[in-house]
Amino acid sequence: MKAAVYEGKERVIVQEVADPMLNEGEVLLAVDACSICGTDLRTYRHGDLKINPPRILGHEFCGHVVESRATDGRYADGTPIQIGDRVVMYIVILAGTDRYTEMGRENLSGKRTTMSYHHDGAFAPFVRIPANAVAQGNLFKVTSNISSDQMSLAEPLGCVMNAHSRLGIGLKDTVTIIGAGPIGIMHALLSRAQGAQKVFVIDTNEERLKMAQDFNLDGAILSTSDGAHRERIAQLTNGNGPDVVIVAVSAATAQNDALEIAAKAGRVNFFAGLPKSSPVTPLNVNHIHYKELSISGSYSEKKSDFQAAYALLHSGRFPASKIVTHRLPLDRIQDGFHLMETGESLKVCIAF
Ligand SMILES: [Zn+2]
Repeated sequence: MKAAVYEGKERVIVQEVADPMLNEGEVLLAVDACSICGTDLRTYRHGDLKINPPRILGHEFCGHVVESRATDGRYADGTPIQIGDRVVMYIVILAGTDRYTEMGRENLSGKRTTMSYHHDGAFAPFVRIPANAVAQGNLFKVTSNISSDQMSLAEPLGCVMNAHSRLGIGLKDTVTIIGAGPIGIMHALLSRAQGAQKVFVIDTNEERLKMAQDFNLDGAILSTSDGAHRERIAQLTNGNGPDVVIVAVSAATAQNDALEIAAKAGRVNFFAGLPKSSPVTPLNVNHIHYKELSISGSYSEKKSDFQAAYALLHSGRFPASKIVTHRLPLDRIQDGFHLMETGESLKVCIAF
């Protein structure tokens, strides 16, 4: 089969690889759709020391079961896995338990492995689901007629929900998201769904801000080097600043902006990390002190987040069709990376 294989920095090459062969307990999916994640792009551009090449990338997928060697294999809800079923996957796979799995925070477990990092991913017509994942009920059956490209959002939407599970956004809050890419837009939509009074996005890219206007937010504000966007946000929030600020872009300037614009007693979430090559940055931490800010981080997702994202997508109440803006064949994956970098796209989905 043909797969997009990561071989190192700047080298993601669509090439012929051996078809996957199943071991005991495993399930084979034919991939219908696999969205490109910001981390796929980051791996492509900067490399990732956690990935041992060659590795097939792609972890935001929806496919259907074509073969199973999992006797009595079951979905998360306990129903049996059957050939032909359409499925999505919670990609955190545990090799045992520790204090974090016991807290229900599988994403923080030292026993975790994930698809596209430790196991080949789904930028390929077929993907092998490891036995541990099947046994842990990581496969979820798609039971509505939602399209597979939209359903591939379950994974990134779950990551967004993980951040929200600690932010507790509600009716008393105004929210600003820095970064209006697909992840930023999903944060904005969830904030809205939870009853936030006002939701704003900030971005440096005008294309993205134009697309953001399609989502009925309260403002899409251009970030400029003179800092005018910070004053604009203050004006739009009665001089207080937003109660919640989510940083969905990998930039230290955005982290500083978040601390500066947040209201007193505000909550700030660093959803995006900084590049691993330069994680140390000066921040004005007196904002945290004087404004009594609460800062949280967010990494990957808990299984309960994935379940909630899966359920929200099934409900039809989430505008997934507007978030997937491009569908490309596998051999145009480089074009997909380019569309993401220029900000012309929200989610780019590789379709099979
Ligand atoms: Zn992802």
